[in-house]
Formats: sequence, C-alpha cells, structure tokens
Amino acid sequence: MHPLRSLILAAAGNDVIRRQVATAPVSRDVVRRFVAGETTADAIDVTRELVARGLNVTLDYLGEDTTDKALAEQTVQAYLDLLDGLQADGLAKHAEVSVKLSAVGQALDDRLAVENAARICARAEQAGTTVTLDMEDHTTTDSTLRVLAELRATWPWVGAVLQSYLHRTELDSARLAGTGSRVRLCKGAYAEPPEVAYPDPHQVDLSYVRCANVLLRGDGFPMFATHDPRLVEIIGTRADSLGRKPGSFEFQMLYGIRPDEQTRLADSGHTVRVYVPYGVQWYGYLMRRLAERPANTAFFLRALVSR
Ligand code: FAD
Repeated sequence: MHPLRSLILAAAGNDVIRRQVATAPVSRDVVRRFVAGETTADAIDVTRELVARGLNVTLDYLGEDTTDKALAEQTVQAYLDLLDGLQADGLAKHAEVSVKLSAVGQALDDRLAVENAARICARAEQAGTTVTLDMEDHTTTDSTLRVLAELRATWPWVGAVLQSYLHRTELDSARLAGTGSRVRLCKGAYAEPPEVAYPDPHQVDLSYVRCANVLLRGDGFPMFATHDPRLVEIIGTRADSLGRKPGSFEFQMLYGIRPDEQTRLADSGHTVRVYVPYGVQWYGYLMRRLAERPANTAFFLRALVSR
C-alpha cells in the first residue's frame, strides 16, 4: 500500500487527529465536494439535482462501527426519514439507500443488525425503492453475506457489495450471480492484510475484471462501482460482447468524483448511479476518499490553509 494511503487511513482511526480535523473550521466547500450535507433535507436536495441530470442515486447516512444500541436506532430512524422524504418528493424511482451493517448494530450482535436492516428494507419497499448493504472490512464479510441471504428471503432485491481486492471474491461473485441478484463490485476501501487481500493494485484490477466477467455472464444485475477509466472501458466492451444491453447493468461512482464522466456515461445511454453520503459523521468517509488519491489530499490541505 502507498505510504500516504497508509498514513491517512491510520489518521482516519486516530482520535486526536479526528477531533482536530472534525473541529477545525474546514471550508464547507471541501467537505461538500464529497458529502451532500448533514441533514435529510441536504441529501434530498442533492438527490434532486443529480436526478435532474439523468443520474440515479444511492444514499448513505454516514456512521459506522456503532457499539451503542441508541446510536444504531438513530441511524435506522435517519434512513426511515430519508425514505419517507424520497417517496414524498417522487425521487424513490431513481434513489435507493446504502446501509453499513456496522452502523445498525452488527458489532453488538447479528440479530440486531438483521432486525434493523429489515426495518429499513420494509420501508424501502413501501417507498418503492431498494437497499444495498455496503461491504466493510474482511472480518465482517461472512456476517454481511449471511445477513444479506436472510434479508433476500423476503426482499430479493437487497443488493450486496463485493470487493475485488479480496482473494475470495471471484468465488463470491459466482455464488451471487443468480437471477434477481444485485451485486456492486468495487475494488475495496479498507487496509487489509495480504493473507486475505491482493497487496498489488494491478492484481486488484485483474481480479476486478475476472469478477466482472463472472457477474456479466450471470443472470443478476451487476453494478460496477469504479472511477477507473480502464475498467470502465473494459466493462463496456465485455458487456457488449456478452450481449448485455445498457440498462441490464450499471456504473456507479462516488459523489464529487469524476462528475463529468458520470454525466458522459449517462448521456451515452448507460445507467449511472451516484453514491451520495450525508450526515454529521463525515470524517471517516472523507479520510478514506483522501487516502485513495494524493490529489484529493492536496485539494483538502489547500482548502484548509486558504480558508
Ligand atoms: P482507484 O484505483 O482509486 O482509481 C483508479 C483510477 O480512477 C485513477 O487512476 C484515476 O484515473 C481515476 N480516479 C480515481 N479517483 C479519481 C478522482 N478523484 N478524480 C479523477 N479520477 C479519479 N468500498 C468498500 O470497501 N465497500 C463498499 O461498500 C464500497 N462502496 C462503494 C460504492 C461506490 C458507488 C463506489 C464508487 C465505491 C465504493 N467503494 C466501496 C470504494 C471502492 O472500494 C474504492 O475504494 C474506490 O472506489 C476507489 O477505487 P476505484 O475503482 O475508483 O479505483
């Protein structure tokens, strides 16, 4: 892993740095480039703008690693409010939600996470939209896939996320490529040990292509989450040669990253979904985005010093 990436990921877990950055009067614009805002209304405003530009959205209420039942409940309530808002504003056809199980109680016990995620799924169904379970670090993969299977028994449209940096993912892709499945394939955002993950970015890319092939050959709905121009091109070509029409798979990118490419893909007939995070707990998310790209870090630091 790049030393800068390791440093920033370490900072993401460091409480002293967390307090300093979180309380620094960081320019609103810097955070707002990657995060929709702190409230449900902010999230809905950004969703409306993106949908007006022909894009679809998945919304993430920021917060993870909750070991407090009350905080998990607060997260569930935030999603229920959001889903009500999306339905009321007529946006549910184009906007779904992404949920981190650790934010709804996975670290406390699997049952609580299942029950809380089920409440969100039930409301999403009423609103006329879907839910995708984000994937977190490798220690939670089995538990997340178990919860997914349980939820899919009632709501077959619940989406999964697989990370191509994990050795196991080609096999998981094959297991999840069946009819009705929705699988988001990403490279993976956590610092993982070489026993479980490819340390070399090139190997991660090769694995991404192998997994993409499995998903494209399958009967489910693959969702390719990447900003990597080479992968976007390869997937477009592979999809074409496998007879996959635009609309039978989608591209996904993060809010604020390559927005012009998001519009270009949508304008060329592809389904594109933008992952939009919001909420007061934006710090960990922002640090992961900075870790991915030194240019983002420079952008952030420049904004800090030029307030
Ligand atoms: P990278 O290797 O980071 O970038 C490849 C290339 O993309 C770069 O060389 C550059 O050409 C281009 N690029 C990247 N960033 C920029 C930029 N800011 N500006 C211009 N060009 C850029 N991870 C998880 O672990 N679990 C999840 O549930 C999860 N969900 C995700 C959902 C979505 C919709 C997306 C897009 C990502 C998600 N991720 C998730 C994060 C993902 O795993 C990666 O960490 C992140 O997407 C960066 O990988 P990348 O594929 O964009 O490639």
